[in-house]
Amino acid sequence: MRPGPVPPGEFEEFQASALFCPRCRTARPVRERLLLVLPDGELYEYLCSVCGSSVGKRKAETPAPPILLS
Ligand SMILES: [Zn+2]
Repeated sequence: MRPGPVPPGEFEEFQASALFCPRCRTARPVRERLLLVLPDGELYEYLCSVCGSSVGKRKAETPAPPILLS
């Protein structure tokens, strides 16, 4: 199943605004790229939207699934 189309602007609030890019030597808007899927979360990489350099990483931990007691 594929997620339906997302209305424009839906993701804006989730974007990191800007990070310092060592290559541009200034703060740049960044793009987020999924780097790795880990058993307990996902590793994202931030890329400079101007030159494409990696400017940071973020790990998004997925909460453990609830344990259902019967
Ligand atoms: Zn850059």
